[in-house]
Amino acid sequence: MRVIALLMAAGRGSRFGADVPKQYLPLFGRPVLRHAAEALLADGGVDALLPVVPEGEAEAVSALLAGLPCLPPVTGGATRQESVRRGLESLAADPPRIVLVHDAARPVVPRGTVAALLGALAAEVPQDLMGAIPAQPVSDTLKVGAGGRVLRTVPRAGLYRAQTPQAFRYAALLDAHRAAREEATDDAALLEAAGLQVALLPGSESNLKVTYPEDLARAEAALLPRYLPAMGTGFDVHRLVEGRPLVLCGLTIPHPLGLDGHSDADVGLHALCDAIYGALAEGDIGRHFPPSEAEWKDADSARFLRHAAGRVAARGGIITHTDVTLICERPKIGPHADAMRARLAELMGIAVDRVSVKATTTERLGFTGRGEGIAAQAAATLLLPA
Ligand code: MG
Repeated sequence: MRVIALLMAAGRGSRFGADVPKQYLPLFGRPVLRHAAEALLADGGVDALLPVVPEGEAEAVSALLAGLPCLPPVTGGATRQESVRRGLESLAADPPRIVLVHDAARPVVPRGTVAALLGALAAEVPQDLMGAIPAQPVSDTLKVGAGGRVLRTVPRAGLYRAQTPQAFRYAALLDAHRAAREEATDDAALLEAAGLQVALLPGSESNLKVTYPEDLARAEAALLPRYLPAMGTGFDVHRLVEGRPLVLCGLTIPHPLGLDGHSDADVGLHALCDAIYGALAEGDIGRHFPPSEAEWKDADSARFLRHAAGRVAARGGIITHTDVTLICERPKIGPHADAMRARLAELMGIAVDRVSVKATTTERLGFTGRGEGIAAQAAATLLLPA
C-alpha cells in the first residue's frame, strides 16, 4: 500500500479525569476517534488506517471504525513513542511509501490538511524533505515561571505549536524510531534529531486536541459547520381489536384491547421510524420491512427503530431530537410516557432528554375518539454531513 495513516488511540487520557478514555467520548453522539478517522480519509489519498490501541481493546476499536478502510489494530506500548514504533514495525513486511501519524484525540482536522501534507512530500523539489507537519505560530507571550512567579519572557518569534496529522516518508520515520534514544513528544522531533528536513505547513486553531472536558464543546462547535439539519415527520394508524397485546413506543401496556397489524403494530414506534426515514429521504418503514414478507409478522418493532437509527449512523449523521404524539382517548399515556421515552432513547442510542413522548385526544371525535384505533404522529431532527 502507498499511504497508511496511524491512528494513535493507545492513551488512557489521565488529564481528562473521565472514566472513559477521551478518544471514546461522544461528539454529536459519535466517538472522538471515529471523527478523527473520518477526517483522515476525507481528502482522499490515504489507502488505509492503522489503529494503535490499548491492550485488549482491538475489537472494541474495530467496531467503532466499522465500514472504514482499516488494517487490523496494533497494540500500543507504554509511551506514545513506543506505540508509534510498534505501528510502524507492523508495516515493515509490506512497507508503505508514506505514513501519517495522527492523534485520535484530534477529531477536527480541517479539510485539505491531509492533501497539503501529501502534496508537500510528493513535490519534486526539494527532494530532501522527509516529513511535513501542520503547525500554528505561537501568538501568546511566553513566560518561564516557577513557584507562581514569572522568571522571564521567552521570545516567541519563529516558535510554532506542532499539530497532527504529521506525514513522513515511511523508511525515514522507521529508521528514526529505531535509532531514537530519548523520548520525543511528536514524530517530527525524531527526524529533526537525525538532521532530516521537515516542512512546516499552516495548521488551524480548530484542529484542537481534546485534553480537558471543556474541549468537547469546542470540538463540537468546530464540527458544527460540517452538518446540516434535516427534519422528517411520520404518521401511522392501527385498529384496536380484542385478543392482541397493546404495544406502544416499545412497551407493552395493560389494556383490554390491542393494536392489529402485521407486526406488533406499535403505532408510535412506526410513526417515529417514518420520521427518521423521512429526514434521511430514504422512503418509509414499508420499504425497508415490506408487510408482504412473512418475516415481519408479529415482529417486535424495536428492530425497525434500531434499523432506522443505524441508517442515520451509516450516513454519518446523528439524531438530535425526536417527538412522538400518541392520539387516543384510552389508555392514558401520561403514566407511561417517561418509560416510553427511556425505551425509545435506548433503542436509538441517544440521551433520554432528546426524546419526547406525549399524547392528545380528539375530544371523542372521529375514529380515535370512538376508540376504534390509535393514531400517532412523530417528528425527528437529524444532523447529517453537509
Ligand atoms: Mg404501522
